[in-house]
Amino acid sequence: MDLGIKGKTAIVCAASKGLGRGCAEALAEAGVDLVINARSQGPLEQAAQEIAEKYGVQVTAVAADISTEEGRAKVLAAMPSPDILVNNAGGPPPGMWHDWEREDFIKALDANMLAPIAMMKAVLPAMMDRGWGRVVNITSQSVKSPIAVLGLSNSARAGLTGYVGGTSRQVAGSGVNINNLLPGIHATDRAISLDQGVAKAEGISMEAARAQRAATIPAGRYGTAEEFGAMCAFLCSEKAGFIVGQNILLDGGAVNATL
Ligand code: NAP
Repeated sequence: MDLGIKGKTAIVCAASKGLGRGCAEALAEAGVDLVINARSQGPLEQAAQEIAEKYGVQVTAVAADISTEEGRAKVLAAMPSPDILVNNAGGPPPGMWHDWEREDFIKALDANMLAPIAMMKAVLPAMMDRGWGRVVNITSQSVKSPIAVLGLSNSARAGLTGYVGGTSRQVAGSGVNINNLLPGIHATDRAISLDQGVAKAEGISMEAARAQRAATIPAGRYGTAEEFGAMCAFLCSEKAGFIVGQNILLDGGAVNATL
């Protein structure tokens, strides 16, 4: 399928590996020139080079912490007016409800709610002026079904989801579509670190922890960054102009809900 976005430009945040990288690759395959971001310069530059060579698009690497104002300013300086924005950042650490203090919540809010909101506020006006734009926010299945040990993530992502619900309807008339993609368990480094948490807490091997978590997914396996990226590219495509403010779950059926 021709996604109709060849020659457009995109910022993909937190994209040197994992789900962000999957989104960057799928957009590059559709012919989109990219600014990709992550904190560690070496792996980010390597990712940029690999993507540019594989797909023949321009890829600029901007090493910066997207949860900070300075980091966002660096990313936006490299591409002030993208056609497409994919918001992403690392996820907060697991724990118990009584573990988290104000500072922990502020960190989670900065990374997983206020950073994507700030990026949207920065790029939406020009998208609206041009009458075309796409924003995809990577959130989590925890928005639909809480993951008890990820209370910081449950809280911050709920706030972003509420903002997108309203904002997406305010900008849709200008040809700008904002949607959220909700990953269930995907085979990335984040999943490995959560597997490690289960292995440690239950005194079992990593293989057993992974099998235990995979058994909670009707599809019987973890998702892949490629599958995730394909859905992201579709939501960023010309074809997705009538999809507004949706929360699309990619979880192999893990959330047991009819709707
Ligand atoms: P990952 O494999 O650990 O990759 C995270 C990427 O984000 C890396 O490129 C990392 O590079 C970058 N990054 C992290 N913090 C950043 C920051 N503050 N500023 C800029 N870049 C940053 O993680 P993932 O599995 O792709 O997860 C992506 C998001 O989806 C996370 O928020 C995660 O909580 C959420 N999620 C994932 C799953 C899953 O199963 N994988 C499920 C539900 C939700 P640097 O470390 O170099 O910055």
